[in-house]
Amino acid sequence: MKIIDWLSQLNQQLLPQSCFLCGDTSIQPICVSCLADLPHQVIRCSCCAKPWSTIALCDECQSQPPPYTHTQTIFSYTYPVSQLIIAVKFQQNLVILKFLGELMGQRLITQPRPQVLIPVPLHLARLRQRGYNQSLELAKGITKHTGIPVAVQACQRIRNTPPQTTLSGKQRQTNVKGAFEIIKIASNWQHIALIDDVMTTGSTVAELARIFRKAGVRRVDIWCCARR
Ligand SMILES: [Zn+2]
Ligand SMILES: [Zn+2]
Repeated sequence: MKIIDWLSQLNQQLLPQSCFLCGDTSIQPICVSCLADLPHQVIRCSCCAKPWSTIALCDECQSQPPPYTHTQTIFSYTYPVSQLIIAVKFQQNLVILKFLGELMGQRLITQPRPQVLIPVPLHLARLRQRGYNQSLELAKGITKHTGIPVAVQACQRIRNTPPQTTLSGKQRQTNVKGAFEIIKIASNWQHIALIDDVMTTGSTVAELARIFRKAGVRRVDIWCCARR
């Protein structure tokens, strides 16, 4: 058993079962009523999932089509989803991370099925610092419900770029340029899904999608937990 799974199991056994958000007794990490209240009912652009007036393409996707086909998010990145993301990214809350991954799996099962899931890779230095890649853990939850395999070694992050959250939209684009490299892809991959925790401007996933398209993958979709 991997250490992250073991820690998460241990966490679940040791901690009293209470809702992370409201503190009420709950058999799952987020209780049924808090879960029902999480923000996700927004109309979005069918390509980049930016909040938009219709499900048609937004102006930006029409004038400059991204290298990916469709983005599916399960939540809007507003409170309290932002709290959940902070917990999984910076507070080592593996119980919430696992729970979000499984929620993604349950909700994404109806989507057009990719052959493989590719988690957005972390640079080795950041992976060492955090101890896990949150996108990989989310992907494992999706696999559990959909059976779609995760390709962990398909690509890597070769530049340790400053966190996107510290940058403006334009800076984000140049920040991730050349940040990734493909290691190994199967010749029969026609359709893949990139897995990310939060999508903001989409620069990171667009750069990753671009190199997979260049390597011959026909369709790249983005599946993220939360979209700004
Ligand atoms: Zn609750
Ligand atoms: Zn769009």
